Amino acid sequence: MNKKSVSIVVSAYNEEGNVEALYKEVKKVLKDVDIKDVELIYVDDGSSDNTHKKCQALQKKDKMVKIVHLKRNFGHEIAMTAGMDYAKGDAVIFMDADLQHPPVYIKEMIEAWQQGYDIVLTKRVDNVATSAFYKFCAKSFYKILNLLSDTKIPEKTPDFRLIDRKYIDFLKNFNEQDRLFRGLLSWIMPNDKVKVIDFVAPQRLSGESKYNFRKSLQLAINSIIQFSVKPLRFSTYLGVITAFIAGMLGLWVIGEHFIMHKPTPGYATIMVTMIFLGSVQLIVLGIIGEYIGKIHMEVKKRPLYMADYETQEEVKKVIRNGGKKDI
Ligand code: UDP
Ligand code: MG
Repeated sequence: MNKKSVSIVVSAYNEEGNVEALYKEVKKVLKDVDIKDVELIYVDDGSSDNTHKKCQALQKKDKMVKIVHLKRNFGHEIAMTAGMDYAKGDAVIFMDADLQHPPVYIKEMIEAWQQGYDIVLTKRVDNVATSAFYKFCAKSFYKILNLLSDTKIPEKTPDFRLIDRKYIDFLKNFNEQDRLFRGLLSWIMPNDKVKVIDFVAPQRLSGESKYNFRKSLQLAINSIIQFSVKPLRFSTYLGVITAFIAGMLGLWVIGEHFIMHKPTPGYATIMVTMIFLGSVQLIVLGIIGEYIGKIHMEVKKRPLYMADYETQEEVKKVIRNGGKKDI
């Protein structure tokens, strides 16, 4: 088994204040690692600031730096996929550009891999940058997701991880547009040779988080739809529950009429029943609509991204279309 080279994939979207600091930190930690063949791939996810220029400046002075320059903002999940596609290492480490994934842990990750672990995950025991409310939302999301989905996704395991080449090659076979990297990883997660390292996420060094509440909620809904069809079953359950309520209501009306000899006035009951059934139908239609929307987007099989792959020697146009890469 080859354990000679490592790729570090860094997704960066408007991170001009961070890319250089990250480079320095990575260089520092690599001095203590006994692997010499390392590439540092910055995936510039269509940044509108100077991220690309800063990466190019680093690349000019250091051959280790490679750039996947996405032509527009494709989102973090696709940025990681693009980085993975062009990583050549026997292991790939994924991390954020904002130093919330402290590079010092790279050493421990590589050592664990050298000892025989195929996947080294990190567990964020605390994140000083997030509010109590956000933490509560994240916790609830994972509870709901894991309740609904057959693929369990552990909580507090960010996209900071090392994956051995053989699993990277597995991961490349997933061609869906709408992707949650940690979900795909859970899907292929072996029962053994997985290590978890605890860490505390500091504040981001510079700039702002790219995930506001709306974006995080969208990611949460997408993730549930990607990994579960159980919400579709809700319509059946809701149907059974409303039928039961309607039956009870019917019995009550009959009882009032024949036993208590006091006919129920119809207007209010009809209104309540109609509104109730109307809302249930809208909810069910909404859920079905979400799934149809996803199918609609997936069947087109559009390319996943378009980018330039830049090394010191060359710049080539690249695209991922299904399993096919490069142009
Ligand atoms: N990111 C990206 N594309 C995006 C949004 C974010 O590549 O569309 C990168 C971002 O530059 C950072 C990482 O993904 O390196 C995590 O994003 P962020 O720090 O904003 O998220 P948070 O840590 O606040 O959850
Ligand atoms: Mg961050």
